[in-house]
Amino acid sequence: MNTRPTLKVNDKGHLEIGGCDTVELVARFPTPVYVFDEQYIRDMCAVYRETIENEYGGNGLVLYASKAFSCKAVYKIVADEKIGCDVVSGGELYTALQAGFPADKIYMHGNNKLRQELCEALDCKIGAIVVDAYSELDMLDEMAGERGMVQDILIRVNPGVEAHTHHFIQTAKTDSKFGFSISDDTAEKITAYALQKKNLRLTGYHCHIGSQIFEKQSFTLAVDKMTDFMVRIRKDLNFTAKTLNLGGGYGVWYTDEDKKITPAGYAEYLKAIVAELKEKCAQYDFPLPYLVVEPGRSIVAEAGITLYTVGAIKEIPNVKKYVAVDGGMFDNPRYALYQSKYTALLAARADEKPEEIVTIAGKCCESGDIVCADVPLPAAKSGEILAVLSTGAYNYSMASNYNRNFIPGAVLAYKGNAEYIVKPQTYEDLTRNDLIPERLK
Ligand SMILES: *Cc1c(COP(=O)(O)O)cnc(C)c1O
Repeated sequence: MNTRPTLKVNDKGHLEIGGCDTVELVARFPTPVYVFDEQYIRDMCAVYRETIENEYGGNGLVLYASKAFSCKAVYKIVADEKIGCDVVSGGELYTALQAGFPADKIYMHGNNKLRQELCEALDCKIGAIVVDAYSELDMLDEMAGERGMVQDILIRVNPGVEAHTHHFIQTAKTDSKFGFSISDDTAEKITAYALQKKNLRLTGYHCHIGSQIFEKQSFTLAVDKMTDFMVRIRKDLNFTAKTLNLGGGYGVWYTDEDKKITPAGYAEYLKAIVAELKEKCAQYDFPLPYLVVEPGRSIVAEAGITLYTVGAIKEIPNVKKYVAVDGGMFDNPRYALYQSKYTALLAARADEKPEEIVTIAGKCCESGDIVCADVPLPAAKSGEILAVLSTGAYNYSMASNYNRNFIPGAVLAYKGNAEYIVKPQTYEDLTRNDLIPERLK
């Protein structure tokens, strides 16, 4: 377990988050429920912001990649910590604006942004749009012109570095729906095209090399590739990029197979990036760009846990034991999508040694509906509260109503207080948009 003052086993042997005993929490907030540690989200935002301030003279911006966990309260916390955010849809933009997020600190991403989404972005005077298609450049230029405005844009490029967890590879030709390759003339051509657009101001480039990355070298390699590219563009097109956005991807702890990184440890990633960037820019006499980074997972994943109630327990002799909970792929589809690993424990017996290896199953009509496979656990009994750790990112944001299950509520825990930041759904919510045509009545 990766403990900290705001996520630990208390002296009753119960799991405690944000100063709240999880066993007491479920009496007020029925399972399944997500619980977030506000202090951890704040600490992570602060550490990234301070590192840019201290190591790079504040010449940059941290954006919370809000696809990891998007709801009004999280945008409030992030804005309060004085960092920006990025959005990838009209829905995320709407939620951020509803929370009062300053539009000039929002960037918009997406490989196929809809006209309506671009319209909303321009109308709120969004900070920047990261363009990922020729058709988008045409559409955006025309729309900005209609509004008599000049919109800041970046171009998404593919630096030929692909990284996941413990591996990174350099590829000359990456097969991705995202970005324009810098390994050939593809990114250069779209740059030349963008520079002709009268109502768009190209400020620089964006890349995102992957996710759940632990190797600092993956990021410094991306810095090398991007600076080489910007230097080449300066020479070929006489365009000097002012902004460099390096995306997110910093790894988090899910199980003891992963590195445990403290907030201070995450600062080291930005320090390595900044050091490499300064060195490369000095080498080429290139002006230091405005540096943007976009961590998502590392800000919220470890902040969140999911609490479930154990239901049916089924032992298949000599095969495995299934412990079923009142949630599943509808609140956490990550095992079904990528066989993700998690750590589970019993909330009221969090200090007990595991006795067996079990598979935590969900309640959906799908054999692949597993929350975590082969996890060590004390012998669980029906009715006990089971906690799954590090579920703050890409769980609620990927939840669905499969089998017409409710998307669980989310609770924010802070200094012993807890309240809903997302209400749990009701049957009413599930049927809200259903219509029965007259002829079927
Ligand atoms: C998903 C994504 C991020 C955030 O990645 P994390 O692994 O959650 O840090 C940042 N930028 C872009 C463009 C992304 O698609």
